[in-house]
Amino acid sequence: MALRSEILNLGTETALHVLAQASKMRAEGRNIAMLCVGQPDFTPAEHILEAGAKASRDGPHGYTNATGLPVLRQALAEYHSKQVGRSLDPERFIVTPGGKPTAWMALLMFGEPKSEIIVPDPFFPVYRNGVNFTQAQAAVLPLREEDNFELTADSLAEKITPQTRLVLINTPSNPTGSVISKSECDRIAELILSHDDLYLLADEIYDRIIFDGYSHHSFLSYPELDERLIYLNGFSKAYAMTGWRVGYGYWPEPLVEYASRLAVNEHSCVNGPSQMAALAALTGPQDQITEMSQAFQRRAEKACTALRALPGVTCTPANGAFYLFPRVAIDGYNSSQLSQALLKEEGLAISPGTSFGTHGEGYIRFSVAAADEELLDGVARLGNFLSNFQQGNG
Ligand code: PLP
Repeated sequence: MALRSEILNLGTETALHVLAQASKMRAEGRNIAMLCVGQPDFTPAEHILEAGAKASRDGPHGYTNATGLPVLRQALAEYHSKQVGRSLDPERFIVTPGGKPTAWMALLMFGEPKSEIIVPDPFFPVYRNGVNFTQAQAAVLPLREEDNFELTADSLAEKITPQTRLVLINTPSNPTGSVISKSECDRIAELILSHDDLYLLADEIYDRIIFDGYSHHSFLSYPELDERLIYLNGFSKAYAMTGWRVGYGYWPEPLVEYASRLAVNEHSCVNGPSQMAALAALTGPQDQITEMSQAFQRRAEKACTALRALPGVTCTPANGAFYLFPRVAIDGYNSSQLSQALLKEEGLAISPGTSFGTHGEGYIRFSVAAADEELLDGVARLGNFLSNFQQGNG
């Protein structure tokens, strides 16, 4: 086919494929435990829905600024300035359709043949897809279960070479639920600054979903990183607004112009009613975030305990976000084959660990953004599969 090779080889998000497969099976009457998708099982709070509905009636109906409605950028600046205790510039916030485009834009800016981009593994699949698309080299930084999947400045330092342009970091993490501590963030910030022209993309889209005993430390806190940080966040996870498509980046001043041009060429703007709903989300009551985080924590704890009780399964507790990443090693199945067998034989929809990188082999990802009963039913289905397998081999 006469398409450029980067398009022919472009990766995808397997979780969305599993979701499509599982939804089809459900529509055909099959009972499915749906634990593959990374979105809260909550409806956005009433005041968010109201603001969206009002704006659908009253406007804005036309194109908005490519960089976002000024009133939303102002609110973002106020919110994050308060969060990190320093003054952030509204003009450097660029509102995007979901959080993803900020990562994609950064990868288009920094990735090119012979450049290196550091991608922790396992990680959000879009990062790796973007690096490959630009033909940059992905320098893979393994995150290991024995270290609780934590990314450290020391392990990162080993991957930096004179060709490294960009480092990708996600805290709290999809798919492992690990959270980088403040002291490690301090060391990472220092490390980035010690290399000329090295940039950091900090994806903090799960920053509001943090479990008791942990806290999120934002890379926006470091004024000295101001010219080196591309900050990604959005409304999808914290406000249960995945389908509304509102996210944003905070860019180094010299990159704002390029990010704006990419936005103009790629999507023109984010629809007005979604932006007004996002504004209401950010400036209105925040109670639902607490309610959701508590539910995710309760479910993650219960499911982790249940998973650990299964033979041959290990599971690291999550400290934030809404995922568990247990190791389920079964002879004769790689993680992709296991995910297909679980779907077909047990009606359990989870994501294979390898959709998050090669270091995800042997693991599967459970989303705990599902009702407690469905989640525990999913763990029981895995248990059933394992005991059938043992009987078949016993
Ligand atoms: N970053 C991470 C780590 C994610 O897990 C996701 C969504 O799953 C995103 C970014 C993108 O979110 P959005 O749906 O707002 O584009």
